[in-house]
Amino acid sequence: MYAVLAGGVGASRFLQGLVQVVDPTEVTIISNTADDVEMFGLHVSPDTDIVIYALAGAVNPETGWGLAGDTFAVVDQLQRFGYPRWFNLGDRDLAMAIHRTRLLREGVPMHEIVQELARAWDLEVHMLPMTDTPVRTRILGPEGEIPFQEYMVRMRTGVEVRGVEFEGAEQAQPAPGVLEALAEAKAVIIAPSNPFVSIGPILAVPGIREVLEQTQATRIAISPIIAGEVVKGPAGKMLASLGHDVSAVGVARIYRGLVDVMIIDEQDRALAPEIEALGMRCIVTDTIMSDDGKKAALARVTVEASEGGHA
Ligand code: GDP
Repeated sequence: MYAVLAGGVGASRFLQGLVQVVDPTEVTIISNTADDVEMFGLHVSPDTDIVIYALAGAVNPETGWGLAGDTFAVVDQLQRFGYPRWFNLGDRDLAMAIHRTRLLREGVPMHEIVQELARAWDLEVHMLPMTDTPVRTRILGPEGEIPFQEYMVRMRTGVEVRGVEFEGAEQAQPAPGVLEALAEAKAVIIAPSNPFVSIGPILAVPGIREVLEQTQATRIAISPIIAGEVVKGPAGKMLASLGHDVSAVGVARIYRGLVDVMIIDEQDRALAPEIEALGMRCIVTDTIMSDDGKKAALARVTVEASEGGHA
């Protein structure tokens, strides 16, 4: 079984490749729920939904999030009642939020909800939230704390990040099945996701980091940074403002002790010795997942790396 720690867009592209090269029933996704948000009275789980839509072949290919061909009539109309318009929740996307919210109100735990949603989209993978309880990412900006979606969507990441906090993480417990998946997996894969706000919250749930340190699984991370740049999103700016190298080496240092194999892009080949000096095996390949073939090729390299065993 392959356990994948997953954020949103970067993770979903990788997972689209993984399910082409291994049996999807052999894939357990551990999804970041710390950027969940309450909007219009509804519970929205952006990262979980991006992954579900991507694996269902329904994601908007232009944005990497939301549903292809969705419209925004409801959020447009909600402005009449004074709701803010900055959060783009499509009309069809809303159906997911409505159903999730109803189940939460009925007391259904998040791990059952996520599995039900994934099944409703005919996914064969196992999908788990990192925890059943609320954890919320807050960005520490120059003028104080900012809820994550405000930073990401309303402010379009245009604020210096001085710190990242995960409210509720200390009291959280891993969702049922998460620790077992990490302990029993043949490979634990850290998707090419934002290390601070996608993977960071998962690792902040007590118990997860410890099991990752001890598991017999081969632990593999794919760098989301290529040639000193992100493909998309604020990970580069965060690496810089939080005092890290904006490079695959900077990412590898963050994951030191947690990964056996680091996969970096061809463009970063020269960095391989520095990464190996951190005590990891470094694999160099094309990591730009611009089409299905490239997604599958990266997944194949990752699966092959898992044959190598624990360092
Ligand atoms: P978010 O929660 O939607 O921001 O998504 P993630 O945290 O899963 O992914 C964001 C990261 O994915 C960014 O840092 C991107 O650089 C990275 N990413 C997106 N597409 C690719 C790709 O094709 N290759 C690699 N290596 N990284 C990618």
